[in-house]
Amino acid sequence: MSDNETFLSELDDGLSEKDWNGPKRTICARCERPELVCLCSHLPPVPIHLDHTSVVVFQHPNEIKRPLGTVQLLSKCLDPSSLTVVRARQFPRKHYPHIYSDPNTYLLFPNSNAVLLDDVIKESEHYTIIALDGTWNEAMGIYHRHSELQELKTCYVKIDQKSEFVIRTQPTKETASTLETVAYALRCTETGKPTLFDDIVRPLKRMVELQLGLGAVVHEAKLSLIENGQTRRPYSKKHERWLMTLQH
Ligand SMILES: [Zn+2]
Repeated sequence: MSDNETFLSELDDGLSEKDWNGPKRTICARCERPELVCLCSHLPPVPIHLDHTSVVVFQHPNEIKRPLGTVQLLSKCLDPSSLTVVRARQFPRKHYPHIYSDPNTYLLFPNSNAVLLDDVIKESEHYTIIALDGTWNEAMGIYHRHSELQELKTCYVKIDQKSEFVIRTQPTKETASTLETVAYALRCTETGKPTLFDDIVRPLKRMVELQLGLGAVVHEAKLSLIENGQTRRPYSKKHERWLMTLQH
């Protein structure tokens, strides 16, 4: 395990995956949430079809155990022809040749070579945007295990609002949930849909609001805790620098 991966596994410890533990719940057929916290009224009336983008989420298998994962919400917002979610440990080139060979495929991953997505988008083209979904160390693990992912062009998005997903710890104030990161990417690629970003983020906001109402706790970004001296963990300068690299 590299230093970064070791550090990232420590990041996980701050996660809270508390869901509501009430009496036996009825599950809503559409949003698949317990009826008491149904999100249907905040979902787009019909799943949104994307004109210029295919979104692909390579998801770590552990995400299935997390009831408040944001990709499940994303899948309720986008139509199946626009979003592919693959839950696996391996995402080899031979299984997804069209994705890996497309010159307009970008991996949403903030490494040092990543380009700002707004800077590469040209009108009327089609883009495949890959997001890695899991905790930060799981996403880093997926990236480091796949040379084919490392060979892809990487991009980042300007995150101009604090993440709505305050019930899970983000590494920095400028990082966001998978759903929000994809929403920012689509704001670049789907310019003809001015309400798209809000349409996707709205159910997340509602989910968080409901969870906070049920006693979930707001998590500050790790880097803010470090800067404010509010973490008991000894973070090395190297690890703090690494966190800073996530801030484009
Ligand atoms: Zn529902």
